[in-house]
Amino acid sequence: MIDILSLDYEELEKFISVELKGPKFRVKQIWQWLWQKGVGSFDDMTNIAKGLRENLKSKAVLHHPEVDTVQTSKDGTIKILLRLTDGALVETVLIPMEGRYTQCLSTQVGCAMGCTFCNTGLMGFERNMTMSEILGQVLVGRAYLHKKNLNPLKNLVFMGMGEPLLNLDVLIKSLKTLNNPDGLSFVPRRITVSSVGFIKPLEILGESGLTLPAISLHAPTQELRAKIMPKAAQTDIHELLSAMDRYPLKPRERVTYEYLLLGGVNDSIEHAKQLVRLLGHRKCKVNLIAYNPGDKPVYKAPDPAQVLAFEKYLWDKEITATIRRSMGQDIKAACGQLKADRKDS
Ligand code: SF4
Repeated sequence: MIDILSLDYEELEKFISVELKGPKFRVKQIWQWLWQKGVGSFDDMTNIAKGLRENLKSKAVLHHPEVDTVQTSKDGTIKILLRLTDGALVETVLIPMEGRYTQCLSTQVGCAMGCTFCNTGLMGFERNMTMSEILGQVLVGRAYLHKKNLNPLKNLVFMGMGEPLLNLDVLIKSLKTLNNPDGLSFVPRRITVSSVGFIKPLEILGESGLTLPAISLHAPTQELRAKIMPKAAQTDIHELLSAMDRYPLKPRERVTYEYLLLGGVNDSIEHAKQLVRLLGHRKCKVNLIAYNPGDKPVYKAPDPAQVLAFEKYLWDKEITATIRRSMGQDIKAACGQLKADRKDS
């Protein structure tokens, strides 16, 4: 059986016309039912001839991830624990921002990178998610907001569970599907892919022209990066930055480097100086995030005054820096806190 939400437009076209011998004009209609209207069953495709619907049912499945648990934070952040068809659990987060929502998407069940500050990393890697599962999160998130009469979903960030560039083919296919104006219709500037960075996948992604990823740097030197994110640091920090220097940018684009401030580890002014030496001459901006300690903290939260001092130092050296407000800490929905554990939800 074909998982219909894992087909991109061309694959759907081939499936309908070759496999099902259906007329070509039905492809766009079926695509719109799947992605624009987000129906959960072939029977809901009311303008599709019954014969073709029966044919679809005999050769394909249409699954949305099943909602297991929903938690809402006092700041309005919504964390949804989803059950995939094989029983695997993943989390997605809806974050309210200026009258709209941003959804944080997972791309893998667990993660192989084992970054020392991240709960997902502690789970280890189980498997890659399919396009149906990755974009299924968007269908579920959008439907949930609609059902609750909340603000619309406007932006997507690939910053949930897993390392997107280690599921590259599916990521690229998902980005193309997201861009399709007859489907979910998310233009590239409304999508951010966040990655620890790997040279070859970055080159492929750059050539695709689909997105400019944000790089999770988190340390100003190779040595410190190797301590806090040992697997990611197998890609040398200087090679990583050179790869981003070569990344094809559109006229007003700049590379975003994410920097998670860990209390007493990478948050001193000395670290800020090292970061300036590394990035000062580059076309970039820095997104600072304060570590969320959670229940079993591995590190300390940075002192809020230190976070501000770090940011100011970067500005003084003419590096654009912003502090990302951490949302959903009370429901463990903030950066580094996702682990898809039912006991936790
Ligand atoms: Fe994986 Fe990202 Fe967590 Fe690192 S921070 S372990 S890459 S999910």
